[in-house]
Amino acid sequence: MGGGASAVDKEQVESLPQFTILGGASKFDELKGEDGKVDLSAIEDPYLKYGGAYDEEEPKNSKDFKYVKWDAVPAFTENHKSLMSKVLTPELFEKLKDVKSDKGYTLSNAIMTGTVTPHLGVGATAGDEDSWVKFKDLFYPIIKGWHGYDAETQTHPVDLDHTKLVFDDAKKELFNKYVKSTRIRAARNISGYSLPCGATAEDRAKVEEILKQTFDGLSANPELAGTYYPLGEMTDEQRNFLLEKGFLFQIPSAKNLLTGAGAARSWPNSRGIFHNEQQTALCWVNEEDHCRIISMELGGDIPSVFKRFGDLSNAIKASAEGNGTTLMWNEKLGFMGTCPSNLGTGLRASVMVVLLEFNKLMEGENQEDKELLEQVCARYDLQPRGSAGEHSPAVGGKFDVSNKQRLGFSEVELVQKMIDGVGKVIELEEMLAAGSTPSDIRAKLAEP
Ligand code: ADP
Ligand code: MG
Repeated sequence: MGGGASAVDKEQVESLPQFTILGGASKFDELKGEDGKVDLSAIEDPYLKYGGAYDEEEPKNSKDFKYVKWDAVPAFTENHKSLMSKVLTPELFEKLKDVKSDKGYTLSNAIMTGTVTPHLGVGATAGDEDSWVKFKDLFYPIIKGWHGYDAETQTHPVDLDHTKLVFDDAKKELFNKYVKSTRIRAARNISGYSLPCGATAEDRAKVEEILKQTFDGLSANPELAGTYYPLGEMTDEQRNFLLEKGFLFQIPSAKNLLTGAGAARSWPNSRGIFHNEQQTALCWVNEEDHCRIISMELGGDIPSVFKRFGDLSNAIKASAEGNGTTLMWNEKLGFMGTCPSNLGTGLRASVMVVLLEFNKLMEGENQEDKELLEQVCARYDLQPRGSAGEHSPAVGGKFDVSNKQRLGFSEVELVQKMIDGVGKVIELEEMLAAGSTPSDIRAKLAEP
């Protein structure tokens, strides 16, 4: 494919801002001609398929990423599944197209990831705290669609009291049989700084600095005291160890939310992970949010994981406030962050649960049965994921099942919904193992 007017050599390709998105080094090797050059016109840029153009004026552009700007509603296709693509009418586009948040986040910025990554479910991101105000006409209907919560009229409750959870011995036994590990995480962001999709390199570095001080503040608590590891300073071995254990965030790929939103710019700078010595309390820095706090351990002892989560959450808040910063929070939206799906509690309580019967159906031929687990989860307000995170396959029938809602329910209520819902899913898994058919399960779902 070499030769021609737009043939470029490897060095030129590598300097393109969308190099990774265009397929990176492997794509280059696949396409290069005998002269070692690649004809760029042979590569379709996935970011330009929907009517936008690169915005050369955008100050957030970096060496590895350029933002796209739209002058009208993007050319959504039938592959666009997101709430954003449903909510964004031509009228709404007109109303918001010239709006800018305090930190300079625009409508095109907010809708970029959902446009260039059609499979996403939400499809819109906030670039700073003010985005939740300036783009509320876009965000509130999305929030309604995802959480069933009316941000105009409702207020959001807080409750981290682990003693309120109902988890009896029968549940404990059931969970210990099917659940390999438990994890509860939530997003925490620092007021006054752009969120990762809208951040400059300076913002990102400052956020990391504040969080490092915050982690130092945890050293007084023997259960939470630990060390911060910058991503850029890790060896491949260290990184792979943390990834395999499920401790570290996924490294952004060409097709995920972070990349399309510009939140993976200048990767891995100012990203990192803190964990306590036992590796049961962890904090991610500058991935999708400024900070993700995580409590996790092997097995299915949900109350224990939730107790540590509450301790970590309180300690981070106190430490941040001790450093003169506040967390993004208000009564309507609770904790605010990048994605509308993570407002409110920002809490996702997940279990890695082995569901061999559901997995067999998923690997089978029947389309309706493939979707059975999805349907079951939806019935109990749960969300299934694969064993290595969002959009990954379930290796060995191991699924990550978590609460779907984050907003309008307290932390205690959401963890309880997860416990009760996962209990039901396991019950149905046992019915399938004992010979029930998928139609039996569907009939069961229809019961009140
Ligand atoms: P989130 O962004 O909601 O924190 P992701 O789907 O991006 O979650 O997954 C992050 C990582 O956490 C992945 O490596 C995933 O395998 C791991 N993980 C999620 N839930 C559990 C769990 N219950 N036990 C162990 N690891 C988990
Ligand atoms: Mg994630």
